[in-house]
Amino acid sequence: MADVPLVDMQARLRPLRADLIAAYERVLDRGVFVMGPEAEALEAEFAAYCGTAHAVAVNSGTAALQLALLAMDIGPGDEVITVSHTFIATVEAISAVGATPVLVDIERGTYVMDAGKIEAAITPRTRAIIPVHLYGLPSDMERVATIARTHGLRVIEDACQAHGARYRGRRTGALGDAACFSFYPAKNLGTVGEGGIVVTDDAALAGRARRLRSHGEVRRYVHDEPGWNLRLSEILAAAVRVQLPHLDAWNRQRRQAAAWYDEALAGLPVQVPSAPEGREHVYHLYVVEVDERERVRAVLDERGVGTGIHYPVPVHQQRAYGRLGLDGALPVTESIAPRILSLPMFPEITRDQVQAVAAALEAALPVRAGAVR
Ligand SMILES: *Cc1c(COP(=O)(O)O)cnc(C)c1O
Repeated sequence: MADVPLVDMQARLRPLRADLIAAYERVLDRGVFVMGPEAEALEAEFAAYCGTAHAVAVNSGTAALQLALLAMDIGPGDEVITVSHTFIATVEAISAVGATPVLVDIERGTYVMDAGKIEAAITPRTRAIIPVHLYGLPSDMERVATIARTHGLRVIEDACQAHGARYRGRRTGALGDAACFSFYPAKNLGTVGEGGIVVTDDAALAGRARRLRSHGEVRRYVHDEPGWNLRLSEILAAAVRVQLPHLDAWNRQRRQAAAWYDEALAGLPVQVPSAPEGREHVYHLYVVEVDERERVRAVLDERGVGTGIHYPVPVHQQRAYGRLGLDGALPVTESIAPRILSLPMFPEITRDQVQAVAAALEAALPVRAGAVR
């Protein structure tokens, strides 16, 4: 059987090679390498894509999360509610600005924030909620927004895995007070290095984020407050601009591949991902749950099928966040961590490849007592 990798970056970039090189030449010929016309055009194009008024390009998704919090004046003494089942950067951004992360459990089956767990986590110090649209599935944003409105909290979407996904017809990015995206190469929309962006409808928030991104500068060498250097390089902005026009088609291909998987895995003792009514999944990852995950994974590896685990240890059980004292407190998060398995997923994956993965998975699965195969 032909090998099937977890992600195939070459397949994505090969058809764009000429366009990428033309974009690099454009930047080289112009001689402006930081915060020039490419970053500005990317901001306009990405804001238009999301349906927001403003976008502020930065040098990673992690920086985008930090900048959104900083621009909202969230810092020491404040609490921010998010999930433990995420890439650690979501939680790190909260601690990086000096605020305290408060981690809640996820919904069974969708792997995103359980909105029913938010209110019990709110205290007088709570300032914001960061729902993470994990694996490409939007969180339950209507319930999150209602709770936020009731308690006077801000909502920051962590959309680093969900570029282009829709919630009741509206795209991620336009579902909260601000949203953060990553352009890490393997994301649904990437660059050829590190990058990210904050989008918002709030002009004042965007203005503050712009200043904090570049040393608190209001005009050349005029600094009204201390800031950071979170700027995006022109070459990297240009590479995102080459890819953005392909995002919708790539997401359609991912959804098609997910439908092939759903069909091929039906009837197997595997839990496949679900997308509730009104929430459009863009399958950054196609994650299933299986018994005996480590053994199944080893068999798939022997058969040339690349897999991943996103993520093997929840943030609250990492040594970095053990001080939160939440061990044992997030039952859904803790119960799925040893069961989840990410199968190969990329826009160019073929139906034959999906079927080969499904066949390898079927052969690798533990035989259930009484089952006939
Ligand atoms: C990738 C990712 C980030 C961080 O983005 P970087 O560009 O790698 O800094 C944050 N949150 C989630 C959910 C991510 O997947």
